[in-house]
Amino acid sequence: MRLSVPSIPLEILNTVGRAQEISLKAAIERVVNFLTPGNTTVLTGAGVSVDSGIRAYRGNDGRQRYWSRAYMGYQPIHRAWPNPTHYALAALMYTTFIKDIITQNVDGLHAKASSLSVEEEHPQILQLHGSLHNVHCQKYHFEPRARYQYRISVINPKWKQLADDLENSRIQLRTNPDGDIELPGIRFDDFQIPPCEMCLSEGVVETTMKPSVIFFGESISNPARDDSFARIEACDQLLVVGTTLATYSAFRLVKHALELNKPVLLLNHGPTRADKLAGVDKIEMHSGQVLHAVAELLTAGIGDEEVDRMLSSGIVTPVPPE
Ligand SMILES: [Zn+2]
Repeated sequence: MRLSVPSIPLEILNTVGRAQEISLKAAIERVVNFLTPGNTTVLTGAGVSVDSGIRAYRGNDGRQRYWSRAYMGYQPIHRAWPNPTHYALAALMYTTFIKDIITQNVDGLHAKASSLSVEEEHPQILQLHGSLHNVHCQKYHFEPRARYQYRISVINPKWKQLADDLENSRIQLRTNPDGDIELPGIRFDDFQIPPCEMCLSEGVVETTMKPSVIFFGESISNPARDDSFARIEACDQLLVVGTTLATYSAFRLVKHALELNKPVLLLNHGPTRADKLAGVDKIEMHSGQVLHAVAELLTAGIGDEEVDRMLSSGIVTPVPPE
């Protein structure tokens, strides 16, 4: 099975008019004014995690190939740190300027920025495409990813050694939000995939575990779809950050907000699928430049240690070159 990454058709990109260029100061002002009424839902995508060294989403191959690469690629994802955009959004959510976050990202960095465990579900953060930090079998027995990684290490000592060697050599590997990495010249056909322990205990042997994420080509679950629509219906305005809206599950949320006459503001560097929709306002700018300043302005004078901590946190980790 080879899944390909959805992309915006070239004819759409070529017909999109360039958003009017504005200064950083003007961009900050526009976002501040947009957020000031409160009760905003924020929709985020891969662009938000680029500053944490996580490259845009890619597809994956068959199960053994997938798991061998995903095993190697998980450590950097597990270790990845939220960047200033994640912390700015966390601070704005903590101070209730933002009601909630719907994210297409599966890296758990929004939760981390709010000092939350990446394995748990959080009422204010909907991970539309699931999470890399859990795995499950076909019968929906869940297991924390870190524990499953440990079980993989135990039965694949050669791969464990390879992972440790790479870790110690400080080679920066290309990492994608699906936890896949580039491993040229490495054989994956002797890679052992641990079975589901719950299924084993019930006498069922042939079950396979997968990360609890929606891969491209799969549909999101009905509860996730309903939850995402309900969040759009409950908000007063929608801020869209760091996404081209290439996935339909995210794009239709923007359309839904517009149908309900809610203001929609896009903050993204580069064209998006929603640029030409009537009623959409756009700031053509990298989110990291804008949101941190916005959060500082809006939370100034609150004098809360947690806000101060969030706004002084966040490092930018460059994505390794191709
Ligand atoms: Zn199971």
